[in-house]
Amino acid sequence: MPNRHAKVLLIGWDAADWKIINPLLDQGLMPTLNQFIEEGVMGNLATLQPMLSPMLWNSIATGMRPEKHGIHGFVEPDPQTGGVRPVTSTSRQVKAIWNILTQEGFHANVVGWFAGHPAEPISWRQRFRPLSQPINGLFDLYSGVVNGAYPFYDVMLERLLQLAGPDTTVLLVSDHGFHCRPSAPRRHSQRTRRPRRAAPPQRNHRHARPWA
Ligand SMILES: [Zn+2]
Repeated sequence: MPNRHAKVLLIGWDAADWKIINPLLDQGLMPTLNQFIEEGVMGNLATLQPMLSPMLWNSIATGMRPEKHGIHGFVEPDPQTGGVRPVTSTSRQVKAIWNILTQEGFHANVVGWFAGHPAEPISWRQRFRPLSQPINGLFDLYSGVVNGAYPFYDVMLERLLQLAGPDTTVLLVSDHGFHCRPSAPRRHSQRTRRPRRAAPPQRNHRHARPWA
């Protein structure tokens, strides 16, 4: 019999990249993530092509490729206006993990998942976020913002772990990396078990748009 009281928290960081994270870890600016890595296991995940966030996050949620789950990008045709609209949950052709959990009698909360609107009839609650505005071509201008955002995410991770409690299994995943230049030096921590060389996610994401 499954443990009906077991809790799992799946956290998604869009475009999280070791190239940015590793120096911040070495500077002690992401202490929660550092401890998270030290106390758990980590690995590189291969992504899918093309690297479009809604497509990837729905592959994570369903375990299927986009030709099966039906979410192919940020927008979809709007049959009412003839234009386009943000991609919707009604376009997903297969069950997401929260649908399966509901079907099996578990509670599930979903917050801010791509193609999460309109909310589905799951057993608990669901929130979605509006699409963020693209900043394509302005990477240099916003690069300081990125380095500032990661420590902020670390603070939010700390709070999420506090709220989840010590008996929760926590998974932290990303859908792809973040604009790694081929010539960028790769830094490696001597203190942790972080990657010593680029693995598929880093290599594959060199051409990722920074806002994806
Ligand atoms: Zn993404």
